[in-house]
Amino acid sequence: MEIILGIDLGTTNSVVSILRDGQVEVLAEDGQKILPSVVGLGPNKELLVGFPAQNQWTLAPDRTVRSIKRKMGSDETVRLGEQTYTPQEISAILLRTLKERAARQLGEEIRKAVITVPAFFNEQQREATREAGELAGLEVVRIINEPTAASLTYNPSPDRLERLLVYDLGGGTFDVSIVQIEQGVVEVLSSHGDTQLGGDDFDQLLLDHVCDRFQEEHGVDLRATLTSKSRVLKAVEEAKRQLSFEAFVAVELEFVAEKAGVPLHLKREISRPEYEPLIEPLINKTLVCVDEALSDAKLTAKQIDRVVLVGGASRTPLVHQLLQEQLGQPIHAEVDPDLCVSMGAAIQGGLIVGLDVGPVLVDITPHTLGVQCLGDLHGYRSSYCCAPVIERNTALPASRSEVFYTAQDGQKAAMVEVFQGEDRDVRHNEHVGGFHLEGLAETKQGNEILVRFDLDLDGILTVTATEKLTGLEKTLTIENAMSRFRGEHQEAARTRLEAAFAGDRQAAGPLSAEVPSAESSPTSEVLPPELAGAVGRANELMSKAEELLPGANEQDAGEMRDLIGRLRRAIETRAQAEMESALAELDELVFYMQDAV
Ligand code: AMP
Repeated sequence: MEIILGIDLGTTNSVVSILRDGQVEVLAEDGQKILPSVVGLGPNKELLVGFPAQNQWTLAPDRTVRSIKRKMGSDETVRLGEQTYTPQEISAILLRTLKERAARQLGEEIRKAVITVPAFFNEQQREATREAGELAGLEVVRIINEPTAASLTYNPSPDRLERLLVYDLGGGTFDVSIVQIEQGVVEVLSSHGDTQLGGDDFDQLLLDHVCDRFQEEHGVDLRATLTSKSRVLKAVEEAKRQLSFEAFVAVELEFVAEKAGVPLHLKREISRPEYEPLIEPLINKTLVCVDEALSDAKLTAKQIDRVVLVGGASRTPLVHQLLQEQLGQPIHAEVDPDLCVSMGAAIQGGLIVGLDVGPVLVDITPHTLGVQCLGDLHGYRSSYCCAPVIERNTALPASRSEVFYTAQDGQKAAMVEVFQGEDRDVRHNEHVGGFHLEGLAETKQGNEILVRFDLDLDGILTVTATEKLTGLEKTLTIENAMSRFRGEHQEAARTRLEAAFAGDRQAAGPLSAEVPSAESSPTSEVLPPELAGAVGRANELMSKAEELLPGANEQDAGEMRDLIGRLRRAIETRAQAEMESALAELDELVFYMQDAV
């Protein structure tokens, strides 16, 4: 069987994959699937490639070359010690390292490769990439576009035309492409991007944020000396990565600076709500490109079948959230965004030699796992809110944490109830387990409780709740957390829950998703069981009505808004008869509207 290497020759990192027995395999060495695209000369002039070269970058920038991809196709050369090299030569060193890795893993030399390039690369840049491959001793059987490769990992349907939006946010660049797949033929319809925007800019913003606060506190600018700046930069980059999975992180650096002979240490906690406003304007810039790419392809968001994420920085939760809001559909990031381009190149290699290519297998959570909390449910405060912690389609194993707040002054216990399902209302989801974290400190409402979910490949979920103030902690392990959700169980779960809520769970206060404001009333809103059913139906109907509002004519929309208002007031005042009557009227209107739209 002929093997063709699939190579993602990236600006920051490079990856090599192969297709074996119909399955894609990313080739790792020493446990590392990624090869940093960095080449250097060590202190004894020995050639360093990948991590060793990356590690010496801050100490010896004159002997280290990064981001060579940006220079491909140009006449610029780079210096490495006393020698100058063309971009093709530096790229060839990276490609040869990957080729040798494959030979060691497979026990034979592989000479053929498919190499990926950005969709916006011009002919010269593509030609330079091909040359680099040849210098590395590879026969480049095809150069393919990165978004094309990424699309191939998403098991396109063989008999349907599909359109994908590939959002690629790397370290230094951003690209968005609209890709069309029909009967195995992949075509890039449009591409937009910003060659100066990426995860490295997020690092810069976080660096400034941390350094500004440090300067306010100590009167010392950590950016003024190269060593302290590079230490802080490294620490904030790591913090940024963690913030994709954790609610807050600690940035700690000892002896980071000195003032009048006294050593200064950096110790700062950064929360996701503190970090996200810093990067939101940059993410909004990418969304403008998304709009442009759609309009160039003469498509609307509704005509996109899938949204695919590529590039390390696309793991940022705010990217998922804003993109999902803008496009109005779920985002697919099941295949590792760092690896999917190389995997797609290997699939392309398999297709070229006529191999059967099976679907890319990934272990994912089929349903969202979240906790019950007090929050906003269809416009009113309810303790039946489901706050997602691990979203559906997340690749396994997965660890995520979110911060919640106690809802009442002096709250002694917090209930941590875990649910599985996609509904914002826990009563429509499956209860998979829970516990009370008891013995909380005597404080005002807003006491921070960190809830952490660790879900392993066998579906075992470990839930840990920690009171941040004291470190008080409780853990629960739930076996088979992923296989419990069954349609027929939903009704039973709902009944069980309603009964439970009417009972002794009121003893422990619920968690709240929002930080309570000083004026907000610290109530835990628990509905009597006879009202709960009607409220559930009202919620469903109101959200359906809200979906229909944009397409409704003025008169219907006005009527619908009135009825939604009546329903909300009825829920607030617990007026069951009024609720039932408004519900019946809205039901009729929604029925009529659905037919009309
Ligand atoms: P790439 O060029 O695709 O290799 O992406 C590299 C960029 O992704 C760098 O800016 C990394 O800091 C960033 N990155 C990697 N992992 C994460 C993560 N978990 N969350 C946010 N950014 C990340």
